Amino acid sequence: MTSEQRQAALDEIAAEVRVCTRCRLAAGRTQAVPGEGSPDTEVVLVGEGPGQNEDRQGRPFVGAAGTMLQELLAMIGWRREDVFITNVVKCRPPNNRDPEPDEIAACRPFLQRQLEVLDPALLVTLGRFSLQTFMPGDRISRVHGTARPIDPATGARAAVGYALYHPAAALRQASLKETMQRDMAAVPEVLIRARTQRAAAQAPPTTDETSPPPAPDADAANEDETMTRTDEQYGLL
Ligand code: URA
Repeated sequence: MTSEQRQAALDEIAAEVRVCTRCRLAAGRTQAVPGEGSPDTEVVLVGEGPGQNEDRQGRPFVGAAGTMLQELLAMIGWRREDVFITNVVKCRPPNNRDPEPDEIAACRPFLQRQLEVLDPALLVTLGRFSLQTFMPGDRISRVHGTARPIDPATGARAAVGYALYHPAAALRQASLKETMQRDMAAVPEVLIRARTQRAAAQAPPTTDETSPPPAPDADAANEDETMTRTDEQYGLL
C-alpha cells in the first residue's frame, strides 16, 4: 500500500467510527475519537478511551494525559505526529468510567482494521485496558517496560508489543513518572529490535548454491527507502 492508500483507508475507518452506534457509548458522546497520526509510521500507541477533552475535540490524548504523553515522547525526540495514537474504545465512557468488555468488543473491529492498515513494527500499550487487549493475562505492574510478540489476530501482523503505564497514572502518582520516563527511554531500542525480528520473519528462505540469484525486487528497494526515511524520522540515524 502507498502512503496515500493507507491514509485513505484510515480516513474511511475514521468516517465509520464517527457515525458508529454499535454500543451504548455512542449515546453519550459529543464526538467519537477515531485516532490520528502518520500513515507511514512503524509505531502505534493504544490508550484506553477518550476523556472529556478528547470527546469535545474528537482527537486522542489532547488533555492532561496527552500533555504528559507528549512530554514523554519528546524525551526520546519524537512528536505525536511521528506515530499513530488511538484507543481501545473510540467513544468516551460516561464520567470516565472503565470501558465494559462488550464496549471493547464492539469497538475492536475498528482497532483491528487500523492495525491491519498501519502494520506497525511496534505497538505500545498505554495502561491496563490496552495491555489486556494485546497481552491478556499480564499485570501492568509486572510487565511495564517489557516487550513481547503481539497475536497477529489483533490486526498487528508482525508487531512487538511494549507495555507502558497509562500517562494519567503518572499524573496521579508522581513516583510513576520516573518509571514511565525509564520505560519510554527504552522505546527506540525496542523499535530497532522489533524491526530486526520482523525482517528475519519476513526474509525469504535461504537459497542453495544451485538456485539462480533472486531477481532485483522493486518492493525491497522501496522498503529500503522507507527504512531510511523512518530512521531519520525517529532520530535513529
Ligand atoms: N486517556 C486515554 O486513554 N485516551 C485518550 O485519548 C485520552 C486519555
